[in-house]
Amino acid sequence: MTTRTFKVTRGWENSEYTGGQEDGVIFVDGRRIGGTYWCGPQPRSRRWASYGPAGALYGERGFPTRDAAEAAQVREYATNPDEYDRLNDQANALLAADEAERQARHDAETARLDAEDRLRRLGDDEPGPTVWTCPAFHHMYAPAREVRLVHSWLRFHGLEGEVSGLHPIRVERRATRTVIVYERPTDMVQLAAAMGQNVTHEGWLKAVETHVTTLVEDPPTITVPDRPDLHPVFAEHRPVKFPLIDFGRNVACSCCTKNSGDVTSVIAWPCDVVETAIEKGA
Ligand SMILES: [Zn+2]
Repeated sequence: MTTRTFKVTRGWENSEYTGGQEDGVIFVDGRRIGGTYWCGPQPRSRRWASYGPAGALYGERGFPTRDAAEAAQVREYATNPDEYDRLNDQANALLAADEAERQARHDAETARLDAEDRLRRLGDDEPGPTVWTCPAFHHMYAPAREVRLVHSWLRFHGLEGEVSGLHPIRVERRATRTVIVYERPTDMVQLAAAMGQNVTHEGWLKAVETHVTTLVEDPPTITVPDRPDLHPVFAEHRPVKFPLIDFGRNVACSCCTKNSGDVTSVIAWPCDVVETAIEKGA
């Protein structure tokens, strides 16, 4: 008969624990065979419990120390290590299978919700050719009359306040309908802004989702060209509103006002930098 020796080590249920009355784990040759835990207000002789090959030992079968609680499990393990290893492997395989099944269910549910979300946002029909585009930042450099026309067209479709002005708006001809394709700021970024958090220009640019809605009324004619040259200017010289403090003009250039050094006045938007940039490329 060969004699097998074991290396028993103690670990912790939570890797941040370092001992005391925390839940312990019993390892034999690096394999988890059971654990120990503190039983609280019990007679001194049963304050520690353990579980593992010997079953659940607590209460009447409890122990005065963690060492004793561990030893009972290790002793039982040593009577038939191969069998306990086999049971342990079986239990671990069951756990892994459960986990894999749970993960698969989770993935399937996520995919289903994603598909539902895409359908809700983008419709069930195929994209078609673009027949009209309102350039990004149009409202910041187009003639006021044209901006008003785009605005009332959006409002007619119930899209007032829904469309990001920092992205293009398109009209797309599809098989059985014409649609407006637009970027809508996510609820999260709108909430953040409503809560007074400072959403950066990059934040506004990125936190959008594409939506599609059926076109009912033809869009107004756009006379101004796309002006990508203005995007960096607008990124820096942003119009900001002062809803509570009205200096006689409540839309200011965030950049120029901040740099003016005068805390008692605001630089109105469009500022000189913006106006010069718009005229230069026109
Ligand atoms: Zn400015």
